[in-house]
Amino acid sequence: MPQTDALHGCHLIAGRREASMPDAFRATNPVTGAALEPLFAEATAGEIDQALRQAEAAFEADRDVPAERRAALLEAIADEVERLGETLVERATAETGLPNARIQGERGRTCGQFRLFAHLVREGSWVAARIDPAQPERAPAPRPDLRRMLVPLGPVVVFGASNFPLAFSVAGGDTASALAAGCPVVVKAHPAHPGTSELVAEAVARAVGREGFHPGTFSLLHAKAAEAGVALVRHPLTRAVGFTGSLRAGRALFDAAAARPEPIPVYAEMGSTNPVVVLPEALEQSAETIADGLVASMTLGAGQFCTNPGVVLGRRSPALARFARRVAAGVAATQPYTLLHAGICEGYQAGVARWASVAGVRTLATGAEGGTATPARAVVATVDARTFRAEPLLQEEVFGPATLLVEAEDESDLLDTVRALGGHLTGTLWGTDAELARSLPLVNALRRRVGRLIVRGFPTGVEVSPAMQHGGPYPATTDARSTSVGTAAIERFARPVCYQDAPASLLPPELQDDNPRGIWRMVDGTLTRAPLGARGAMQEKAQLDSSPSER
Ligand code: NAP
Repeated sequence: MPQTDALHGCHLIAGRREASMPDAFRATNPVTGAALEPLFAEATAGEIDQALRQAEAAFEADRDVPAERRAALLEAIADEVERLGETLVERATAETGLPNARIQGERGRTCGQFRLFAHLVREGSWVAARIDPAQPERAPAPRPDLRRMLVPLGPVVVFGASNFPLAFSVAGGDTASALAAGCPVVVKAHPAHPGTSELVAEAVARAVGREGFHPGTFSLLHAKAAEAGVALVRHPLTRAVGFTGSLRAGRALFDAAAARPEPIPVYAEMGSTNPVVVLPEALEQSAETIADGLVASMTLGAGQFCTNPGVVLGRRSPALARFARRVAAGVAATQPYTLLHAGICEGYQAGVARWASVAGVRTLATGAEGGTATPARAVVATVDARTFRAEPLLQEEVFGPATLLVEAEDESDLLDTVRALGGHLTGTLWGTDAELARSLPLVNALRRRVGRLIVRGFPTGVEVSPAMQHGGPYPATTDARSTSVGTAAIERFARPVCYQDAPASLLPPELQDDNPRGIWRMVDGTLTRAPLGARGAMQEKAQLDSSPSER
């Protein structure tokens, strides 16, 4: 088992340790402020180029790897990450200040994610095959044979996120979905947890070797300078980018990608304040329960989740006042928190100070503050809806355990405020069934602004599953049509190709007449798993019609 003190601090480019600019930076323990060994290298332009050339070579070499082998690679990565054992947990805890239990839970999610994608790849229908057989007799013009499916884009650059050192980092959801689609991956490690990144990268590289894939299938680069990230995005061989982090960085990468001679997609997940709307009847019935749940959700992981509820909207009423008092009491009783790194700590303090600088914003309560290197105390503040709408900075993400309670005068003031919201990952509604049914304009206004609509729950806690949507209108993400969590994330790293009148010898198995993989395909507009040919297709269609639940 690898030991933390055996960390080498090098990049891992196509399975080889490289460091032409070594000893550039160390990680810091956010609890103690102590620098952690070893020193890590800074990626040079030459190393960035090398990683992407190797990724391109891997893409060409492994183009036709059968799905079964690709699924085995994904499972091998999960196995190798698990095999890191406590070494990984200890290093991740030291670099992030997150408790052991959280890291262990995140490791479970990370490995589960890879196994879920292995299942998806093995099942195979994700390629969305569509076949319109030729109609040579059609008048006035014959129809050609058309066969369409999704194919991988090519090398993908992934930026590790600071707030999920495992599940959104080196072997996180972006890497899993890109590899599942058939894309080699070059990861830029987040400089706040380089040791964790190295351990996981070595595990991924071992799996790549063990399963006989081209070593360029995966590379890891360390860098502390923003220029390296931009250079990765600008590299001509990069075909797509996955990112989670700040609006500033995400937007910089998106703009750099758009300004390339050949623009590429950047799937950036950025700032989101995840509005929670509390309606009067629900508050009358359960103000205290909702308040307690909100405090737990906003302080979970020290508030460092992209789904953290950063704004709560309600209508002025005695029940809302009761709710606010309970939230304030809950926040006042919170423990001191430690944030992930000094940058996030500074950002949090600045964000809370920005709120306080707006006339009309009143702090209701703050929690305890401790003596760690990157401390934070929980905060709840309040403001009226009119001021909230007039002051754009109140809509900006304050990353950490803070929430802003926005008080509307009446129903129409609340609706206007929801309509004034920007894009978010989630929107939450607390209302009785009856008042939700009466509030359709509000529900629809919220739906326009979010990727996931939650009813009588809280936004933190994201299920990794086929139906999950973790994305939303800008600025939550740069592309609201995509998700970064769940199996639909694979679609970000694939594009459709249509074969027209191609002979069988050119067709991938997914588009061949006899459907050797047995996947679901749309043949002549009907979903079927049958081989091509009228009899089979009709039988399958009849089966589908009689048992819709099996679809
Ligand atoms: P970040 O600043 O967005 O950095 C994420 C990654 O992007 C890092 O690898 C960083 O590298 C790189 N980067 C930063 N600025 C760049 C630029 N201008 N051009 C190219 N690459 C750039 O995230 P962070 O350091 O983890 O946290 C900072 C803030 O981001 C937080 O306070 C919070 O507001 C936000 N954040 C949001 C979420 C979310 O889920 N919504 C998650 C994490 C962070 P370098 O560090 O080397 O510059």
